[in-house]
Amino acid sequence: MDSSDSFLMKHRWLIGVLVALAVVATLAFVFKAEALKKDKLLVATTFTVIADLAANVAGDAADVVSITRPGAEIHNYQPTPRDLLRVRDADIVLWNGLGLERWFEKFISRVEGATDVLVSEGVVPIPIRDGPYTSQPNPHAWMSPADVIIYVRNIEAALSVADPANASVYKANAAAYIEQIAAVSQRITERLSVLPAEKRWLASTEGAFSYLARHFELKELYLWPINADALGTPQQVKKMIDAVRDNNVPVVFSESTLSDKPAKQVARDAGAAYGGVLYVDSLSEADGPVPTYLDLLRVTTNTVLKGLTGG
Ligand SMILES: [Zn+2]
Repeated sequence: MDSSDSFLMKHRWLIGVLVALAVVATLAFVFKAEALKKDKLLVATTFTVIADLAANVAGDAADVVSITRPGAEIHNYQPTPRDLLRVRDADIVLWNGLGLERWFEKFISRVEGATDVLVSEGVVPIPIRDGPYTSQPNPHAWMSPADVIIYVRNIEAALSVADPANASVYKANAAAYIEQIAAVSQRITERLSVLPAEKRWLASTEGAFSYLARHFELKELYLWPINADALGTPQQVKKMIDAVRDNNVPVVFSESTLSDKPAKQVARDAGAAYGGVLYVDSLSEADGPVPTYLDLLRVTTNTVLKGLTGG
């Protein structure tokens, strides 16, 4: 027996203890990693716009899923059993309210455990002016950069309450994102400033641009007040044609989640141009034209500007 053998013999118990400790440490690490993975906050949202706002606040600290898909019509959406499964594990569900998701309250009552948070809390609503929902709030407040900042602050608060350990992360992410929103908004204001007062019209299918119009000082015309309403009746079309003619509105747009036919008909019959699709209610897929909220704001106002300046 040489000296190293005798060392091993003498300290066999010590090696055993060290091996056991190493195994325990490894297991502890694996279990902790599993636990951390499971513990990451899961945030569900009713539609893609709020999902993008939430993802900007969450960063890597939380996961975000949207119940409705990119491009979906979100007012009259029919939730599926799969949607229920998707939100079952969510810690919080963020929704717009203001009458937007007419399907949501019944849906959420079937999901146990998730806390729902209204992200539009604190927004001063613009009332719907006509149709069956007259004087109820217009829900599209996220289209105003000033109002969407209220959304972002509400999301930051909701995530921080649900996951206090990451509150400082959410705070920093929200602050950085609000700066980006303000910069994009400023740039849009500057670009639109070339438009003379008589040209500052936003004529579209859905009355979804009231908040955007208020923020950027545009006048709004629409075929129907909200997508939850009758869509493109002969009376709506006639009224719109008259209004476009009477106000010399140069261009009419449609909204991305519904048919462009009524807007094209109005444009043709009123002698105006058809200016293409505006995005408001839904983001596109990642490889589409508006994968993020800031893209949606930029692309929509760009299309409006191009239509109004004829370029
Ligand atoms: Zn809408």
